[in-house]
Amino acid sequence: MQTGKVYLIGAGPGDPELMTLKAVRALGEADIVLVDDLVNRAVLAHVRPGARIIEVGKRGGCQSTPQAFIHLQMIQAAHAGHCVARLKGGDPFMFGRGGEEIEALRAAGIAVEVVSGVTAGIAAPATLGIPVTHRDWAPGVTFVTGHTRDGNSVNWAALAAARTTLVIYMGVKNLPEIVAQLLAAGMPATTPAAAVQSGTLGMQREVKATLTTLQAAMHAADIGSPAILVIGAVASLAAIDTFTEAAVKAA
Ligand code: SAH
Repeated sequence: MQTGKVYLIGAGPGDPELMTLKAVRALGEADIVLVDDLVNRAVLAHVRPGARIIEVGKRGGCQSTPQAFIHLQMIQAAHAGHCVARLKGGDPFMFGRGGEEIEALRAAGIAVEVVSGVTAGIAAPATLGIPVTHRDWAPGVTFVTGHTRDGNSVNWAALAAARTTLVIYMGVKNLPEIVAQLLAAGMPATTPAAAVQSGTLGMQREVKATLTTLQAAMHAADIGSPAILVIGAVASLAAIDTFTEAAVKAA
């Protein structure tokens, strides 16, 4: 029997219309679809009837399928000649463990095709009109996780000095520590900041604040994970009212 292949597919940030045409085609080809939990279930409408859908969610702290088991499932299915679609939120190579999966699949001799997706770190700010780069405001953008394996491998001081826009994934829990480190590195307290929860979805929530007011603003607006945090001058372009501490006291 011929070995099957695996598509590593980005489903986009949430809005089903933000999935690529290529992703739609690949999903339609698959015999088996492994889905992460940040993927909007609406995109499964593109899976062909009769294909098997397996949920392999892995939200921080909750029950999730061990990564090694996901690798094994894909490898076994491909060796059995099946076409596998591995569907991930946003882009598969942006904090999505796509890197680990392509390594495991290649080591097993399986053909992999990567289908890029629209990442939440660009799409969520964009819903508010925040461009992650801007010729006048930010010479670049840094996509960074707020949640690292060992807890402190991000050099926040270096990022503060670089003056690029900071787009932080998985940063809600460690926000106080991140803010403290950026302030200690000399980033101005008044640096514009924004947070977007469930960006591009109907239930999206957002807030605009500053480096030092962001956490209180998120609390006041009841914003939690999954959220994208944007820190940098471009956040001032967010088309929503700026949060002030007075607003919280008045509430
Ligand atoms: N591969 C994904 C990111 C996976 S990491 C991508 O490219 O978008 C998971 C984190 O992404 C979440 O904790 C959150 O920080 C962010 N995220 C994913 N979808 C989001 C959305 N619709 N709105 C806001 N943040 C989102």
